[in-house]
Amino acid sequence: MDRKKVIIIGSGLGGLSSGVVLAKNGYRVTVLEQDALPGGCLQCFCRRGVKFETGMHFIGSADEGQILNKMMRYLEIDGQVELARLDTDRYNVVSLQGEEFEFANGREAFIERMASRFPGQTDNLARYCRLVESISAASSLHTLKYGQTDGAVTAEYQLRSVNEVVEEIITDSLLQKVLVGDLPLYAAVRDKTPFSVHAFIMDFYNRSAFRFVGGSDVLVRALTDVLTGHGGEVRTRSRVTRIVCDATHAIGVEVNGGELLPADYVISAAHPMRTMEMLGDTHLIRPAFRKRIASIPQTIGGFSVYLHFKENKVPYMNHNYFAYDTDTPWGCEQYDEESWPKGYLYMHVCDRAGQEFARSGILLTYMRMDELMAWQDTVPGRRGADYEAFVDGRARRLIAALDRRFPGIKDNIECFYVSSPLTYRDYTGTQDGSIYGVAKDITLGSAGRVPHKTRIPNVFMTGQNVNSHGMLGVIVGTMVTCGEFLTPKYIYEQILEANK
Ligand SMILES: Cc1cc2nc3c(=O)[nH]c(=O)nc-3n(C[C@H](O)[C@H](O)[C@H](O)COP(=O)(O)OP(=O)(O)OC[C@H]3O[C@@H](n4cnc5c(N)ncnc54)[C@H](O)[C@@H]3O)c2cc1C
Repeated sequence: MDRKKVIIIGSGLGGLSSGVVLAKNGYRVTVLEQDALPGGCLQCFCRRGVKFETGMHFIGSADEGQILNKMMRYLEIDGQVELARLDTDRYNVVSLQGEEFEFANGREAFIERMASRFPGQTDNLARYCRLVESISAASSLHTLKYGQTDGAVTAEYQLRSVNEVVEEIITDSLLQKVLVGDLPLYAAVRDKTPFSVHAFIMDFYNRSAFRFVGGSDVLVRALTDVLTGHGGEVRTRSRVTRIVCDATHAIGVEVNGGELLPADYVISAAHPMRTMEMLGDTHLIRPAFRKRIASIPQTIGGFSVYLHFKENKVPYMNHNYFAYDTDTPWGCEQYDEESWPKGYLYMHVCDRAGQEFARSGILLTYMRMDELMAWQDTVPGRRGADYEAFVDGRARRLIAALDRRFPGIKDNIECFYVSSPLTYRDYTGTQDGSIYGVAKDITLGSAGRVPHKTRIPNVFMTGQNVNSHGMLGVIVGTMVTCGEFLTPKYIYEQILEANK
């Protein structure tokens, strides 16, 4: 059999999962990664024997029969990845000016817990939960019912903002804010981010929530093993510098400015702006398309502080903590020198199931790229003493904010490491160091979306910028892109078959 050759650019979740789907369907797959390590946002790093996650930290809907569980089974990684369940009665805690609110798993528990603080909102909470579930259920890739996407529901909530819909359903102004307390998970912006984005993420985690035991890079190993088991390969330190095209289609890719690798198909799982750069000035891509891709807004950049705790000092926190010193989660991206950081997300890394103390944690907050312009032309490790002083100062301010919420924690930190939007830009190729790539924006409609197909018949895109970011968003995007190779119907059949 003539097995067609597919080159996939980028070994993040999008590239690796696409590679698995195509390799198990008979394609010859090579995944090319610019970094020394595969994984993109799934990468972890280890210092002084302690592990830190740089991107993905927790996932949802992974219980038996739930959508992510089904996708993981289809990708043949369900048995390879150990998950640790977060507290079911409070997988997320939102702290607004010191008062804490808890998100519980499951519709009934979620409503009951919120209603115990907001008794007059019980019916509204039930309406809200039903709407969230119905939006997720309207997507056939979430129900796995082929051809049964309810376009009217998805379109309506792609065009209405998170705040508009929440404020229409919930009449208590504090509860309106609490329900968007996890908005750093999708970098939502008031009046811009579609309610559908909020609904998919809320539904995803509300069903069940887990951390990876041993860190998110267990996924990289699992996906790579499946890929190689099906005859595929992952090559690191292999930066694609050009997608080489003839008059009508792509013929291969140029790696590290030299080697030419021929391919029947090319899939880019890199940021679409990087993909446009790799395509150079080929006439096969219209200038209007390039312009559109260049003008799509990006989610804000992320500033992370990786905390190495002293041994046996910090009790393991089996939930995520969203803290706001202001009275609202909205607008944290609009900060100035004094008001930064307006909020942050604090999590622990799970080394083993049932652990008593945490060895490492992460603090994640927003940072705009404009603060880093002085160092925009520098590379990791060589940004200079002034950059080091800047990020160190910011990290200490973030730790001080944490210490106000968890008094004494500062003294239990052995040391810490930092990454800024420049780090994410340089390690993953994301535009302006944006946390989740392109931003969904109700005002842009379809002009703000990144298609999985290009005008070049054998060049495709996948990853977080197509469909959505996050574990499920990226995997759904993989199914959409791979549907071009196998037909969408066949992919649904295969997923269902794998879950019989
Ligand atoms: C701080 C942070 C926290 C997050 N937390 C969560 C979470 O808790 N749960 C969740 O579900 N999601 C989370 N996410 C989102 C999730 O991690 C991402 O959406 C997902 O991992 C993105 O996968 P991807 O394959 O699309 O992109 P990436 O992981 O960015 O992979 C793209 C890859 O392409 C490579 N590349 C780029 N250009 C080239 C080139 N020219 N040649 C070769 N290789 C190239 C890059 O090096 C990179 O490895 C988080 C993200 C961040 C940044």
